[in-house]
Amino acid sequence: MSAKQHLHTFLQHAGQADFDERTGAAPVALPSMRTSTVRFKSLDHLDQAATDRSAGGRSVVYGRAGMDTHRALEDVFCALEAGERAFLVPSGMAAITLAVMSVVSQGDHVLAADCAYGPVRTLDQNVLQRMGIQTTYCEPTVEAFSAALTPATKVLYVESPGSLLMQMLDMPALAAFAKAHDLILIADNTWGSGLSYQPLSLGADVSVVAGTKYVGGHSDLMLGAVIAKDKAIADKIDACNYALGFSVSADDAWLALRGVRTMPLRMRETAANALKVCEALSQWPEVKTIYHPAWKEDAYHELWQRDATGSNGMLSFSLTIDSARARRFVNALTLFGIGFSWGGFESLVQLVDKNSVASHSYWGHDNAVLLRLHIGLENVDDLIADLTRAFSLSLQK
Ligand SMILES: *Cc1c(COP(=O)(O)O)cnc(C)c1O
Repeated sequence: MSAKQHLHTFLQHAGQADFDERTGAAPVALPSMRTSTVRFKSLDHLDQAATDRSAGGRSVVYGRAGMDTHRALEDVFCALEAGERAFLVPSGMAAITLAVMSVVSQGDHVLAADCAYGPVRTLDQNVLQRMGIQTTYCEPTVEAFSAALTPATKVLYVESPGSLLMQMLDMPALAAFAKAHDLILIADNTWGSGLSYQPLSLGADVSVVAGTKYVGGHSDLMLGAVIAKDKAIADKIDACNYALGFSVSADDAWLALRGVRTMPLRMRETAANALKVCEALSQWPEVKTIYHPAWKEDAYHELWQRDATGSNGMLSFSLTIDSARARRFVNALTLFGIGFSWGGFESLVQLVDKNSVASHSYWGHDNAVLLRLHIGLENVDDLIADLTRAFSLSLQK
């Protein structure tokens, strides 16, 4: 990407097909280049590609790594995340797995933010522990991480803003801490997806993104990416990725390329809608706390202003109602689908399981009900009307 070009411009021009030499014509958008293997003009060309690959280059000698469509999407992730190398994997969870597995060995210790995406604990319990890798979950502050640091600690795993409560972390301070103790800092950046937040620019070593969410943007795609800026770390990820055998369909890479072109528009709209919903919810006496870093009363609003360049449609709010009423409220909503995930065009609601949020130190373990919304691209007045109507209906048993 040229230094003078804005990211939004780059996203419209990324992945252009080359002109046909004979006709001088090219399709505007790169087609999906499906292939399971690659053929070479000569053995010399194959040798050249293999040499480049063993030096850590992007040359393709076999289909698993993907060709032009994949490469274009990798370039997009590098531009979004301000990284040097990007690796595509079949889901956001696979991105987390790849990032962690690339840098840990038997006997290592991982420090993890207690606000990280829930299934990180499943990776820890079902896989890492069997490999002799221990993980400690901490309140995501330098103080708490310092207290839990051991001589075996190798990785600091964080997510900012965190899952469920969108708690902003002080990424530059955590990066300084990681550097001082020679830890690799991995950050889940699904929330920012490179547009609203850039962990690598704030000092992290590796960024992971669930392209399933805002990058794809249309709730029809599972995809993940791991992005690194340092060559030594990128080479480790490359080797691990090859060994684990992750591969992404060219059609999925193509869908992500198509989705990402409108990500700036979608994110801006959904973020503006979410703020209006915060404003409306703040008027309800039963609403206790709104969790959305762009909201002026969020506890981490200042940190968000300092480190983020935008927001999105994710918000949570706690309510002083009993869980039976919360269930009636959710069931009465008509424009919000009951479901997990986010980042698509549509609004979603999740009645957050108490157990999943109880492990987040920021939650405070009180008895309030917690709801998470993804605000979609519907008309926001319709969304607010739906919330208001369903909430008053929920009074009737
Ligand atoms: C959804 C999500 C993931 C996992 O992505 P999948 O593509 O669903 O596997 C990882 N991290 C965060 C923060 C997420 O919200």
